[in-house]
Amino acid sequence: MQVLKFGGTSVANAANINKAIGIVQKAVKKNTNTVIVVSALGGITDALLEAATLACEGDDIYKEKLHIIEQRHLTAVKDLMPLDQQSSVLSMVKKRCNQIEDICNGVFLLRELSLRTKDSIISFGELLSSLIFSAKLKSLDINNTWKDARELIVTDSVFGAANVDFALTNKKIQSFFFSVDAKLCVIPGFIASDTNGATTTLGRGGSDYTAAIIAPALSVSVVEIWTDVSGMMTADPRLVANARNIQQISYQEAMELSHFGAKVIYPPTIQPLMNKRIPVKIKNTFAPDDPGTLIENEAQKNGNSIRGISSIKNLALLSLEGSGMVGIPGFSKRLFEALSNEKINVILITQSSSEHSICVGIEEVNADKAKAAIDKAFAYEIEIKKVDPLIVEKPLAIVALVGDNMKSHPGISGKMFGALGRNGVNIRAIAQGSSERNISAVIGTSDVKKAINVLHEEFFETTYKQLNLFISGTGNVGSRLLSQLKQQQQHLQDHLRLQVRITGIANSKKMFFNDDGIDLSQWKEFLQKGSPMNMAELINEIEKKNLRNSVFIDVTANDEVAKTYSRFLQKSISVVACNKIACSSSYEYYKKLKDLAREFNALFLFETNVGAGLPVIGTLNDLLRSGDNVNRIEAVLSGTLNFVFNNYTGETSFAKVVRQAQKEGYTEPDPRLDLSGKDVMRKIMILARESGEKIEMENISNNSFMPEKCMQGDVENFYAEMEKHEDHFKKLVDEANAAGKKLKFVASYNSSPSGNGGNASVGLQHIDPQHDFYHLYGKDNAVLFYTDRYTEQPLVVKGAGAGAEVTASGVFADIIRAAR
Ligand code: ADP
Ligand code: ASP
Ligand code: MG
Repeated sequence: MQVLKFGGTSVANAANINKAIGIVQKAVKKNTNTVIVVSALGGITDALLEAATLACEGDDIYKEKLHIIEQRHLTAVKDLMPLDQQSSVLSMVKKRCNQIEDICNGVFLLRELSLRTKDSIISFGELLSSLIFSAKLKSLDINNTWKDARELIVTDSVFGAANVDFALTNKKIQSFFFSVDAKLCVIPGFIASDTNGATTTLGRGGSDYTAAIIAPALSVSVVEIWTDVSGMMTADPRLVANARNIQQISYQEAMELSHFGAKVIYPPTIQPLMNKRIPVKIKNTFAPDDPGTLIENEAQKNGNSIRGISSIKNLALLSLEGSGMVGIPGFSKRLFEALSNEKINVILITQSSSEHSICVGIEEVNADKAKAAIDKAFAYEIEIKKVDPLIVEKPLAIVALVGDNMKSHPGISGKMFGALGRNGVNIRAIAQGSSERNISAVIGTSDVKKAINVLHEEFFETTYKQLNLFISGTGNVGSRLLSQLKQQQQHLQDHLRLQVRITGIANSKKMFFNDDGIDLSQWKEFLQKGSPMNMAELINEIEKKNLRNSVFIDVTANDEVAKTYSRFLQKSISVVACNKIACSSSYEYYKKLKDLAREFNALFLFETNVGAGLPVIGTLNDLLRSGDNVNRIEAVLSGTLNFVFNNYTGETSFAKVVRQAQKEGYTEPDPRLDLSGKDVMRKIMILARESGEKIEMENISNNSFMPEKCMQGDVENFYAEMEKHEDHFKKLVDEANAAGKKLKFVASYNSSPSGNGGNASVGLQHIDPQHDFYHLYGKDNAVLFYTDRYTEQPLVVKGAGAGAEVTASGVFADIIRAAR
């Protein structure tokens, strides 16, 4: 014997019912007796409840709602049945719908809707669907018996979620099936009756349970749950795009997953089937050839200690705290008694071993009732201040990892909480039973989607990790970065297992977001269509999206953008900046950002602040991490100035050479920052700070070679004045040449013993041919680190230190570092 249950979507309309009928036709060929359990047409239970509630509120729109419900059933019948067989079924539908309307009219008149009346109203959903299903089978000459489940399943009178009297029910089921000669029987799911004959229901989603009540009574060989997904999946496919099908799972695991929100099977369904070891198959009505999931006693190991991840929303966390609880027995008993007297179900419990507090998770709807009951139960202790009034936090959610194999596998919770922590998901409470089959964490509701995806990626997606990037700035560096990302996307996915998505792009005018990733071949068009740039909205949008593995990338030179980093780091969003403003503003802000990054487990990376794509800061960090100390740094840090002095011979004017540097993209957006030496000051300060020095711009002396007049007014004035001062520049070069030396703009830093200030300066110097800096060509940078280990010969980092392409690739490298 076999039981097949079809869920709401599987019978939502004529087309779907036809698919289900096709599955039944195949199943009956197995030459064994078959019981079909049917849910209401998808959405009908909710629609009936809505109509009943409206009637109770005195809103006569309920009649329209009932009309729509009737029409859905009539249409299904008309689409399903041949014309000559429709009339009896149509009149059955009309008759039942009239009965619903009669009850709703009563509710409307009395303005009263008891749980009992609700049950009798919603029972019509399953009655109608199963009658239509049976009639359709008959119209195909498939002989079958329709049986009202209320005559088979007996429950108590807890309307809304009644408890089955198995002794009575089993007898009724057995005597019916043994007496009747029904090879194929169709039964409405979800409904039952109490000992007085009043209609009851088994709880929302309870049609699965009907199948699980009938199957053990008849010792059937298999139960098939036909639904709209190809089995139980590693996570809810509506939340996790990469959720995978679970081919086999144990009863215990399936029970845990369903209790923790995997709605694909109604939780009480498993127990009666497990008791009798009846295998359960979950199959997809719309893809019947997919293997689906087999639930049985010993599921095969899948090489993974986790079987699935699920979540429950609408949770309230109750905390009972107080010094008066420590070491005194009986507190938890009284707490749970107070809840049980109110019939409040406890979902999760934690107590720290200090016994100073007990935390209990319950459904949010019961929070007020629970608070009143518990505060009353502990009124005396609260009065004498031994216990605090109950603390209620809501709305919260639970995410849970489930798997039989978690037992004696160390490191799973570490991995779980590490992954959540890296993504800024705050954990409010943790529970793990000694069965080690479930680890649950209570988190904020807005973090659920992110948390489930993070965990899914951590435990299931050996294929790739998703990285979500927000890019601010589409100038020289930004646009090159975007084109490098576009070029490398496939490579990153294939070789580093990184799926890089650009989920937002902004420039000074517009911003554009797309959670699924912006197509980089058309980013300009998308950005053009975006909304006007607004910094507050940009921050809000990124925070609200709350995407996992997020990185904010600043490729602007804008101080407003630099001010946003702290907001992102606090949300555990890593920041990659080629913008130097944050690190070269006050030491306090620089330090705050470094501290926030550490506190919130994010990365703050700015390798391109010094030497563009050269590994300057990375090298420095590595030296310090390995226990070395930086004593002195000598550096040529301006690609622009190096380019200018390398190319200026006196033949073309100094101003023209500077213009060429700007045209080739080596200068800052404002070239005066380079020529004044200010940009070099910022860089040597960043290196000093990274070396551990508490240093500000005013601690650095600047021996500028620029005539003051050049630096007054705007950029055009700057060029015009330089032309006027050509003699000054020529003289600088001639003097150097005469001495057989080269001109380099050099920055130096000597550490201070106190770590407070140091000694740093920048300025033009004559470099003789023996010096490391003599052979620096083009836009090269060079940094010499003199450390405890590199005393005589410095550690040298040298290479092209300016240009949009190399800077973009430096930013790219930081992004990959942030992906960890
Ligand atoms: P039916 O009406 O057939 O009973 P349900 O809507 O009750 O179907 O349950 C199926 C739905 O359960 C799926 O469409 C899916 O969105 C949801 N679901 C939640 N968690 C899971 C999971 N882990 N695996 C599969 N489906 C899940
Ligand atoms: N129709 C009922 C509900 O929507 C039972 C079920 O579909 O399982 O809850
Ligand atoms: Mg269901």
